[in-house]
Amino acid sequence: KSTVAVVGRPNVGKSTIFNRLVGERISIVEDTPGVTRDRIYAEAEWLNTNFNIIDTGGIELGDEPLLVQMRAQAEVAINEADVIIFMVNGREGITGADEEVAKLLYKSNKPVVLAVNKVDNPDMRDQIYEFYSLGFGEPFPISGTHGLGLGDMLDEVLLHFPERAMPDEDDDTIRFSLIGRPNVGKSSLVNTILGEERVIVSDIEGTTRDAIDTSFSKDDRDYVIIDTAGMRKRGKVYETLEKYSVMRALKAIERSDVVLVVLDAETGIIEQDKKIAGYAHDAGRAIVIVVNKWDAIDRDEKTMKEFEDKVRQQFQFLDYAPIVYLSAKTKKRIHTLVPNILQASENHTKRVQSSILNEVIMDALAMKPVPSLKGKKLRIFYATQVAVAPPTFVVFVNDPDLLHFSYERFLENRIRDAFGFEGTPIKIYARQRK
Ligand code: GDP
Repeated sequence: KSTVAVVGRPNVGKSTIFNRLVGERISIVEDTPGVTRDRIYAEAEWLNTNFNIIDTGGIELGDEPLLVQMRAQAEVAINEADVIIFMVNGREGITGADEEVAKLLYKSNKPVVLAVNKVDNPDMRDQIYEFYSLGFGEPFPISGTHGLGLGDMLDEVLLHFPERAMPDEDDDTIRFSLIGRPNVGKSSLVNTILGEERVIVSDIEGTTRDAIDTSFSKDDRDYVIIDTAGMRKRGKVYETLEKYSVMRALKAIERSDVVLVVLDAETGIIEQDKKIAGYAHDAGRAIVIVVNKWDAIDRDEKTMKEFEDKVRQQFQFLDYAPIVYLSAKTKKRIHTLVPNILQASENHTKRVQSSILNEVIMDALAMKPVPSLKGKKLRIFYATQVAVAPPTFVVFVNDPDLLHFSYERFLENRIRDAFGFEGTPIKIYARQRK
């Protein structure tokens, strides 16, 4: 049987929830912190699943300081529980004590479900967004006193029970695909990557299947090349049909963390290249631009810069993507490819600290005051990262319509400069905060 623990600083409502979940009033609830409870351990049931539940609020250490108490409680939860419900108070926002608890929970590697208590009516749901910044994913609004939202929260808790855990959850394999019009050298590149000496290929499947994923390791990281079907085959007639290649590219992008947009140095950039790159960008994937056949052109010390200018001009929407120049044929500079894939992938899944993010935003505001729009002035309260892959930020403002595209772009650049998001798109949304 799995065990769930409810943790949180004093007075966020842990015992009320505990009692609700257990279905009987077995611990004393009073509106003052630190009331002694006589029982902290009980049985509960949800969706025909029985589990144990611990109310860590009942663990009392006499008159030790708050931090010591919270640490002890978190330790019990971390040691005993399979899933931790981390409870915060939606009426008070994030406090220093919440952040202390969060820090202890980060280190635990236990699944944490974030419950925002005291959200007693739907109007208050906007108040949950700031809790994203605690870094435990989606906050679940609940009301202990009214019994609201508990079902959704428990559904999530059950998902994390060991007996149901998804096998792939902690998988840090980097999946990537190569897209590009026919003959830019995708298959040659795959062969070269896999033929590289320090790459250990674990399984190459037959070439008859529709989709072939090939995995390999390099420097202790696992990679999978997605859907290289036909890439290593000669005479890929169907690939020259544009409709087919677009469909294949879209399928590959769908399953990738990182997409390599392959260009041909010899033929230069054409309209079709832009279209294909656009799909990867729209899908929000990490992107590395690969300029292949670098051996086939006459080069001097200016060639790379000139090509880069062309790429930047033609692919303005990919200004975040690094460019790698190489030759699949001569293997020149091929060693620069995987490190760029790795970096793009890490930036794609990077989480930044809320406090630092807000410092960056405040600095940006000081550097370039927000322009007024129709006599009204934008006010930015704070920002928080709500998702990864791609990194997604919500900026809370007085009126989202006042956040002009150019200012949003400015903020994006400040965020990029501060945190280094090379290789990944980032998204910024403005939300109203009343
Ligand atoms: P795909 O259609 O994108 O998979 O392209 P292929 O890998 O089949 O390559 C198309 C052609 O370009 C073949 O004739 C390759 O030999 C050639 N090719 C691929 N990579 C390079 C390269 O780095 N340098 C040169 N010179 N030729 C290349």
